[in-house]
Amino acid sequence: MESILVLTHVDDGGASLAKTSLEAVTAGMNLAARLNVPLSIGVIGPDSARAASALAQTGAHLLAVSGEAFAQTRYSSDAAACEALCRAAQPTIVIAPGCARIARVAAGVAYRLGGVIDAHITAMGGTEGIEASRWFYRQRLEAIISRDARPWFLLLDPGTNPAYECAPEEAAPADVAQVAVELPRQRTAVTGLRSPAQSGETIRPDAKLLFVAGAGWTKKQPDGQIHTTDAARLILDFLKASGASLGSSKSLVDQTGDNQQVLPFLTHMNQIGQTGATPRHRKGLSTCCYGEEPHVVGWRFISERRAISLDPNCGWARGKADVVYVADAFQVMAELNTLFS
Ligand SMILES: Cc1cc2nc3c(=O)[nH]c(=O)nc-3n(C[C@H](O)[C@H](O)[C@H](O)COP(=O)(O)OP(=O)(O)OC[C@H]3O[C@@H](n4cnc5c(N)ncnc54)[C@H](O)[C@@H]3O)c2cc1C
Repeated sequence: MESILVLTHVDDGGASLAKTSLEAVTAGMNLAARLNVPLSIGVIGPDSARAASALAQTGAHLLAVSGEAFAQTRYSSDAAACEALCRAAQPTIVIAPGCARIARVAAGVAYRLGGVIDAHITAMGGTEGIEASRWFYRQRLEAIISRDARPWFLLLDPGTNPAYECAPEEAAPADVAQVAVELPRQRTAVTGLRSPAQSGETIRPDAKLLFVAGAGWTKKQPDGQIHTTDAARLILDFLKASGASLGSSKSLVDQTGDNQQVLPFLTHMNQIGQTGATPRHRKGLSTCCYGEEPHVVGWRFISERRAISLDPNCGWARGKADVVYVADAFQVMAELNTLFS
């Protein structure tokens, strides 16, 4: 019989579970209920018993690894914590979030346990056994994987499961088994975190809307001039007012290396498409964009799509958007920003 362990960790605040961990909890609960098998949840953090209290109503066997060493992410301590939780729970299936913290150690932990691992899992189905789905070739092919080897580690792509919601009354002390960890000698001391100022971040995975900027923003406009400064202001104002995440076509981000006028806040990290990202947002709005890759591949996981293009014959916008506005994006975005203000 299978037995399932969900690996989780606390968020940067240290008191609650990270959102991706709560998504893994949902996936674990659903799988355990479908297979009618026991479920354990392991929590890693400085005071994980407190964080685990949010899981009191899951009915799962709760295990925790606690201590200051687990307040911050570091390969040696995180791998030791995951290994200790797995050895304590003896699962056949380990479900974990594919977040930076766990993804970094999961393959090493699977090796220590003599197990196998698959990453980027987007769904788990099957009638009797377990079938895990993931996408290959830039999200063009979906594979369904089943394995006999155990323990089988499955890393879930963020955003593919709803986060487990604990009711306020669940924040009561839970019955949590503390698991001791024998830490190897620590060579890495985490002295702090440095991240870009919030206002400078344009990639926002949790945003409802993905705003896609195409190369048209930096091309000659009907007056024969280039209006890159206006384009930058319109886009940044819109991002600020709407909270949208910024995606870009490859042509636009590539211009940085071509000595052309560019939008200074764009990097290749913003690129979506076949050689870029395929982010998950509820809505998408593409502007000044013609290409196949941003519309077909970059938008693959976007549910509601709209495009603003001067080109009424753009087959990709027409074929892939629910609504195409044949209009000047400079005018439309200026009007939208006015409505926001
Ligand atoms: C192997 C390979 C991989 C690739 N991978 C990717 C990828 O991952 N992502 C990607 O994006 N591309 C990728 N490409 C490139 C892709 O094929 C296209 O060349 C690119 O996406 C085109 O970018 P664009 O639509 O922004 O620019 P353009 O093709 O230059 O289109 C600009 C559009 O803006 C419109 N426009 C101009 N001014 C306005 C205005 N004022 N209002 C409204 N509309 C206006 C124009 O009418 C035009 O339709 C790849 C190509 C190859 C060969």
